[in-house]
Amino acid sequence: MSKLFNYEEIIDILKVRMVDMAKLYFFYGAMNSGKTTRILQCAYNYEEQGMNPIIMKPKIDTKGESSIVSRIGAKRKVDFLIEAKANIYDIIAEKSTNVDLIIIDEAQFLSEKQVNQLMDAVIDLNIPIMCYGLRTDFQGKSFPGSRRLLDIAHELTEIKTICECGKKAMFNVRLIDGKVQTEGDSVAIDGEGKIEYTVACARCFRLKTHHKFDDTK
Ligand SMILES: [Zn+2]
Repeated sequence: MSKLFNYEEIIDILKVRMVDMAKLYFFYGAMNSGKTTRILQCAYNYEEQGMNPIIMKPKIDTKGESSIVSRIGAKRKVDFLIEAKANIYDIIAEKSTNVDLIIIDEAQFLSEKQVNQLMDAVIDLNIPIMCYGLRTDFQGKSFPGSRRLLDIAHELTEIKTICECGKKAMFNVRLIDGKVQTEGDSVAIDGEGKIEYTVACARCFRLKTHHKFDDTK
């Protein structure tokens, strides 16, 4: 009777399966949906297993806020801030020897090109990359980074949160000094006043912001 597989063949099959294991994940949701808490929990779980996760975040302003803080109070330092023009593939390749997982916070602020570089890194370096970010800005428009992640990520997970009316919140409403904003940059500039965000379902978003989904009407 001939054997179905010899030892070397089995090892090769296992290797292929190992190489196929890493994926690009995108966890998306509205503001205040608990993304940061999930990031901190995920990093903790990996560390508890003796593995080495690293947290990265796009550097979106000159302050370069280097910590992430969840609403329930947990805090952690970001391991690496990604410059707007940085080649993330090269950064990950450099760190890849002792990293088991890459977590990217505020992934909506990545460029389309950087998301493409993440996919190449997953394929070539076999490191899972988990991106967390907003689906849309306060005007209901997608961010380039999120759009590209929604296009190509292996796995998409919506992190759900609830509008004050009880429906699923999908949109973000920006308030400055308590007043609803309908115009401005998708990254709020400090110094304009007290900036806050609230979430809304489609109906409440339209009601609060007077947004016209069909702007020809
Ligand atoms: Zn609502």
